[in-house]
Parts: sequence; C-alpha cells; structure tokens
Amino acid sequence: MQAANNTVVTINYMLTDDQGNILDRSTENGFAYLHGAHDIIPGLENALTGRSAGAELKLSIPPEEAYGTRDEKLTQVVALDAFDSPEKVEPGQQFHAQSESGKPIVITVAAVNSNEITIDCNHPLAGETLNFDLTILDVRPATEEEIAHGHAHDANHTHHH
Ligand code: ZN
Repeated sequence: MQAANNTVVTINYMLTDDQGNILDRSTENGFAYLHGAHDIIPGLENALTGRSAGAELKLSIPPEEAYGTRDEKLTQVVALDAFDSPEKVEPGQQFHAQSESGKPIVITVAAVNSNEITIDCNHPLAGETLNFDLTILDVRPATEEEIAHGHAHDANHTHHH
C-alpha cells in the first residue's frame, strides 16, 4: 500500500539541523500520522506521498516547506514586570501560548535585560532547513474515526492528542 490521503503512515525518523544536531527522533514504535491531514510539515508529507513500507529516504527540507521563514515582526519587547516571576526569566526559555487565531504557539525568550525582555513568537524551527533520515515502517488504511478526527490513533485505537 502506498502513502496517500486517508492512509496512516508509520515512520522511524531522525531529524537533524544543518549543523548535524539531532532535533528530534521517533520513539521505538515509530511515529504514525494521518497522511493528507496536514498533521506533519508539507515537505515531509509531499516526499512520502506514493511511498510504501520499507522505503528509506534522506530529505533536506527548506524552511518554506517546513516551519516557515523567520519573521522579525514576530519579535517583541515586553516589560519584565509583566511576568509573575521576572527573576526566573532567562534567555532560551520557552512558553506555550495561543496566537490570536487560537493556534498553539511557542514563545521563546530571546534576550533579558534589567527591565525588559525580548520575546520571539516565531516557531522555534522557523528558518531552519530540516534534514530527515527516515524509514517507512507501515502504511495502512485510516479508520473512519481517524479520518473524522484528522489524526492517527495507535493500534489500540486510543488517542494521541
Ligand atoms: Zn482522535
């Protein structure tokens, strides 16, 4: 079976940046996603379309096909006293928040000085070329429930949300 819309594809992968740092990798049982539901980055989904179990791919996905390019307008300076525990705010910290449209976003502390901090609302991987070394473990038809939910469930049909 080939990866196509409404199939569940399970992959083993290792993700590295252009410096060779490992950013992420699948767990022992692989990572399953619903193909065609935009649950993964476009460059990865497109590269997997039409592939079958056993395929091994090395991909280099540019930011435009991954988490987008950086937008400097998404960097803001805010007063340090807007934070509950300003003494604990350090560069590199990340906070989970929601965008104005309700999407989950990650805010990264870019810089801290005596009374203000610079926050960066770009996705942490914006501007990065993502290098995937992956193997397709399985491709199967999605269940109606998975299609309705827009994501894959594991073999026991429990939820991964
Ligand atoms: Zn579900």
